Amino acid sequence: MRTPEQGHTKRCLAQAMICAVENARDDTIINDFEFRLWAQGNTALTWADIYLAEGTATCVCPPLPTTRRVATLTWVCTCCLLKLANDDTSGCEDSCTSPEDHPSRWLENYPDDADLTIGMLIAEHDDACPARTDPGLECFGCEEREFSRTVCAGCGTHLAGSRHAVTMWTET
Ligand SMILES: [Zn+2]
Ligand SMILES: [Zn+2]
Ligand SMILES: [Zn+2]
Ligand SMILES: [Zn+2]
Repeated sequence: MRTPEQGHTKRCLAQAMICAVENARDDTIINDFEFRLWAQGNTALTWADIYLAEGTATCVCPPLPTTRRVATLTWVCTCCLLKLANDDTSGCEDSCTSPEDHPSRWLENYPDDADLTIGMLIAEHDDACPARTDPGLECFGCEEREFSRTVCAGCGTHLAGSRHAVTMWTET
């Protein structure tokens, strides 16, 4: 069963509209003239949505593809973080001059269709992190590693330095 937000197909709506039209036809309170007015408006479509939502009309839409959104914790260098946070790479252009600083351009190692959010999911915070038990409280450092040799997930740099948590969202 689809919701109005997901959108019913033309075929499905037509069937539910026929149901609404037939109910209006059989409604003894509506006379022939009123039925004409009723049918001229978009009332039938409104009722089609209501009927589908409450199950009076059966949704005949094909099932939506079942995709699952998966979160993956990744770590990026400071330049990639600034690119993601502010779309600002001016600091990088001043300080990172050698090609191995960023083998790929900022964030380009992520798949094109991935959504990126700064930080990590609550479950991934350290046990001692106050943000884990109370998301309203500040996190003390588990989303940042001061000195890490982890390859940056965004640009592939091997250079040791700060790494920042970025959650990558992909559909599977
Ligand atoms: Zn439908
Ligand atoms: Zn840089
Ligand atoms: Zn934390
Ligand atoms: Zn990077």
